[in-house]
Amino acid sequence: MGGISASDRPGLVIAVDGPSGSGKSTAARRAASALGLRYLDTGSMYRALTWWLLGQMVDVSDTAAVIARLDEPVIAVGTDPAAPRILVDGLDVGGPIRTREVSNAVSAVAAVPEVRRVLVGMQQEIIAEAVAAGPGIVAEGRDIGTVVAPRAPVKVYLTASERARAERRSGDLPGDPAATVATIQREQATRDRKDAGQMVMAADAVEIDTTALGLDEVVGEIVRMALAVPHG
Ligand code: C5P
Repeated sequence: MGGISASDRPGLVIAVDGPSGSGKSTAARRAASALGLRYLDTGSMYRALTWWLLGQMVDVSDTAAVIARLDEPVIAVGTDPAAPRILVDGLDVGGPIRTREVSNAVSAVAAVPEVRRVLVGMQQEIIAEAVAAGPGIVAEGRDIGTVVAPRAPVKVYLTASERARAERRSGDLPGDPAATVATIQREQATRDRKDAGQMVMAADAVEIDTTALGLDEVVGEIVRMALAVPHG
């Protein structure tokens, strides 16, 4: 990890929020690598729990059933931007959590307050560790700037047109013949509606519309904002 500014900016927290397909995962990862920071994909944690519940045949629309099983799986998330890992009971689930089945079920799980309490607590611990150990972390999700790390000095909210987001997501699923842009766009609109409670832009976040921007431009903007944070 070649860092531009790792040592002179201890404990920097960068919040990157936005809907799926806004480019936040790739941009957040690249920015973390460029700055020598850790990287936390909070969506992967909601996805990992959902994947496990589906495997256990739990009806994810049954809130009581979700809460009853919530403490069973051991979810562990790695924070190396070069190789982010997500494990459930020691099993690497990085592939299976990206399927449309999980994408279409995850909002119901993420809407359960007890789920959010547990996962937000884990996320805050991971961020606190990265801050204490230095040099800090880029955390991405929906509620980083508002709930998980409301005091983050750098907050970015990425958006993109619905079409551009669906095209990107469809391109992420080459092995799924049903993942056409039209299908993804429809499923994405449903997920957006269910995620609306979490998808609030922090008042002090900088909104970046990535529809017509290249990845390098988005990463460059995040790095520029990070380098502008006063030292100490
Ligand atoms: O970012 P990603 O698409 O992987 O997130 C998957 C789902 O996890 C979202 O649709 C949302 O329901 C949930 N999520 C959340 N809060 C976060 C990150 C993700 O509710 N911070």
